[in-house]
Amino acid sequence: MTGKVYLVGGGPGDPELLTLKAHRVLTQADVVLYDRLVGEQIIALIPESAEALYVGKAKSKHSLPQGDINKLLCEKAAQGKSVVRLKGGDPFIFGRGGEEIEELVDAGVEFEVVPGITAAAGCAAYAGIPLTHRDYAQSVRFVTGHLKDGTTDLPWHELVHPAQTLVVYMGLTGLAETAEKLVQHGMSESMPVAVVERGTTASQRVFTSTICEITQVVKDNEVKSPSLLIIGDVVKLQKRLAWFKG
Ligand code: SAH
Repeated sequence: MTGKVYLVGGGPGDPELLTLKAHRVLTQADVVLYDRLVGEQIIALIPESAEALYVGKAKSKHSLPQGDINKLLCEKAAQGKSVVRLKGGDPFIFGRGGEEIEELVDAGVEFEVVPGITAAAGCAAYAGIPLTHRDYAQSVRFVTGHLKDGTTDLPWHELVHPAQTLVVYMGLTGLAETAEKLVQHGMSESMPVAVVERGTTASQRVFTSTICEITQVVKDNEVKSPSLLIIGDVVKLQKRLAWFKG
């Protein structure tokens, strides 16, 4: 009997943001491979009978290289097991989900992809920032602040666009450069920016400022990863619409 791999989005942190399907496959798993972004309360849902393997994240010293993770998924499934590859947020949004299932396709391993609430949706909701709004933003764009080669070389001219919300994943390290480039490419110096740290969790923190001052605010408050940047006029609504008390 061959097993199956479930590539599961675990959402941004609050365990109640798991889908019913994610919850079902997780609680029925034989093996779970999870990484750094998955919250403790979600890890606590892994059944005791399951083999739980921490595979970390590419940047950390203790992580398994991506190739080894892919191999492990294939091996465990070949043993007939129900294998859950648990990821933070959504597996197909800056989650390398595509890379992992390509290998499964090549190996002929059966799999399913279970979408999750991505950090942008979760953090925006819990911070009180609608990503689109008829008065402020007709489009929203998700970008990564950290490219594969370590640079932050984004198509800046496309990112400075009226009535568009920008959401930057992995944006803390390159924040100063991102802010500078956006202003150089025409973004107003007073453009509102929010940083959401550990969004949707009990320890969520939200800071709002402007594109010119956000780097200092992040420094002063020692904001750490995981944090998400939301840039755009919609951030003006945050103070009024915030509801989450943590
Ligand atoms: N697949 C994930 C994203 C992985 S990339 C998703 O769909 O959400 C990792 C980045 O996601 C982090 O650097 C951070 O920018 C963002 N992120 C993930 N969880 C977060 C959280 N709870 N709060 C703030 N940002 C988060």
